[in-house]
Amino acid sequence: MQKAAIALLLFPLLMACGGSDPAPGANATADTVAADTFQWEVDQFADVRVIRYQVPGWEQLSLQQKKLAYYLTMASLSGRDIMWDQNYRHNLKVRRALEKIIKEYKGERTGAEWDAFMVYAKEIFFANGIHHHYGQQKFTPAFPRSYLDTLVTASGADLPKEVVDILFDPAIDAKRVSLDKDKDVVLASAVNFYGDDINAKEVEAFYAAMEVKGDTTPVSYGLNSKLVRGKDGKLAEETWKVGGLYGPALAECVKWLEKAAGVAENEQQRKAINLLVEYYRTGSLKTWDDFNVAWVQDTTGTVDFIHGFVEVYNDPLGKRGSFEAIVEVTDPVATKRMEEIQKNAQWFEDHSPLMPEHKKKNVVGITYRFINAVGEAGDAAPSTPIGVNLPNADWIRKDHGSKSISLGNIIEAYDKSTGQSSLQEFCYDQAEIDRAVKYGSLAGNLHTALHEVVGHASGQLEPGVAGPDATLKTYASTLEEGRADLVALYFLMDPKLVELGVMPNLEVGKAEYDSYIRNGMMLQLRRLKLGDQVEEAHMRNRQWVSAWVLEKGAKDSVVVKTVRDGKTFFHVRDYSKLRELFGQLLKEVQRIKSQGDYKAGHDLVENYGVMVDPALHAEVLKRAEHIKTAPYAGFIQPRLVPITDANGEITDVKVEYPDDFIGQMLEYGEKFSFLP
Ligand code: ZN
Repeated sequence: MQKAAIALLLFPLLMACGGSDPAPGANATADTVAADTFQWEVDQFADVRVIRYQVPGWEQLSLQQKKLAYYLTMASLSGRDIMWDQNYRHNLKVRRALEKIIKEYKGERTGAEWDAFMVYAKEIFFANGIHHHYGQQKFTPAFPRSYLDTLVTASGADLPKEVVDILFDPAIDAKRVSLDKDKDVVLASAVNFYGDDINAKEVEAFYAAMEVKGDTTPVSYGLNSKLVRGKDGKLAEETWKVGGLYGPALAECVKWLEKAAGVAENEQQRKAINLLVEYYRTGSLKTWDDFNVAWVQDTTGTVDFIHGFVEVYNDPLGKRGSFEAIVEVTDPVATKRMEEIQKNAQWFEDHSPLMPEHKKKNVVGITYRFINAVGEAGDAAPSTPIGVNLPNADWIRKDHGSKSISLGNIIEAYDKSTGQSSLQEFCYDQAEIDRAVKYGSLAGNLHTALHEVVGHASGQLEPGVAGPDATLKTYASTLEEGRADLVALYFLMDPKLVELGVMPNLEVGKAEYDSYIRNGMMLQLRRLKLGDQVEEAHMRNRQWVSAWVLEKGAKDSVVVKTVRDGKTFFHVRDYSKLRELFGQLLKEVQRIKSQGDYKAGHDLVENYGVMVDPALHAEVLKRAEHIKTAPYAGFIQPRLVPITDANGEITDVKVEYPDDFIGQMLEYGEKFSFLP
């Protein structure tokens, strides 16, 4: 539901509900290669770069936990083909032809045409299909059709003429998902969720007839099937289950999930895994809900996972889930930090600058975990979310809760791989760069922790005031995200955090202040086209927070705007006064929320958070061109290698970090291809 993804950015901005904006990082432990010698980025092509991530803390896991993570990872990769087929009906044929050519073609493997072919192949591997993973458009080969014919014939690959026609005809199946209002979105989308001639109206009618009025715990209709037209002309679901559509891949998933259940860390986790197995066997959406309830209640395991047909963004009607799998382990260091903050949630509330009547007497910190990914597949690879909040069913979230995670090691890899070019371009001086390099990751992590754990949990409404959705309307979201950011910013310069041992000194807070202002006033403008206003809620709040403190602190030169050699910089001169201003604004935003003051909320956002200075915007776009980082990134997965004794018993599981993107794609094609 609230999946944070990184896209179109030169470096990551966290976009979870916890829309904080750090470049956070996990802590390296003894079993990871030192960050400065590990090669983070390994490939770059088209608009994409390929990065690696490490798995800190792996060697601290017990053998049982390692086996669990290994089995779950095998279960993840076993479903890889599903995502390819879901994305487009010919994707698996195309992929197998590419694999064959790359492995078998004995002709000239250099030159412009071969290079163009390899870029095309990599784009397809990266996107799990022939359409761009984010932009949705079909990839355009930059080589002639005759060249592909040559490669296919010479390598003995099998690619029907009908499919080659499609690859080279821009008009056919041009978009994976089309949300064009002037077209029928189902007919206009190439995604393989609906039979060829089925239109959106028919689909809506089919599901409207299924809904039960007054059902407070509805299943996710349509989540795990393809909708096709039967011989009788009527629509029917072909369910993705063992023995059904995608049966061979799901049977393989089940095989590994059963092994995982055998080494589960606790009974609750075992129960969840067994329910997932039952769901894949039966296709029952009721069992899927039962699984999600059990999974949400498994909160003590170190190893956790996401596995299923989860996010529905790839269906133009938002019903069918793309296959996704993530295996993760709790990050012990970051989790410890979260716990310290959570334990002290009441202290933070008592010491916040809110008006006394807006403070909670009994604040309960929200549970939020930093985890490290061990393996990802399907919808989560190579392009990955950096934060996930599941399950998606509203009634399960309300009745049973949800799990929120940040993928710490993925965020660290983004952070480490982007280098310092953006800092060098936009920081005021060397001291600011040094502070960002030294403390930026920790500062970002702490911002996220405070925003999520304390920020959203803090404050209360005045008696009789309705909730913010009713009172603040379209401004509710940006005001809430800004409020949580302000809680984080206010405490990031509090010696209490040093006392709690979660940060070494206040330089961490200064690094976050620098970064917040730099981003809110300038950097984030890179994501807008010239002439655009700020619309997205998190971007708005970063701007209204920054612009407000800039204006209010002007007379004391708290944050100073300077222009040097035609380049604009925002430089924090007085961190204590800036903290006071964040506190004042926090108090005011809480008042707006607590009293439901629409007018004040409207004015704050509209006056400070929406308008863009066109000259500064143009300048930022120009300066951002110097930062040579591809806009999209994705990952090579670590390889888990079981070590066995003479009896075939697993005695250890090692982590390897492959560095060849195509090599990994070919390896997966050989080991995890279960669909025709
Ligand atoms: Zn948030």
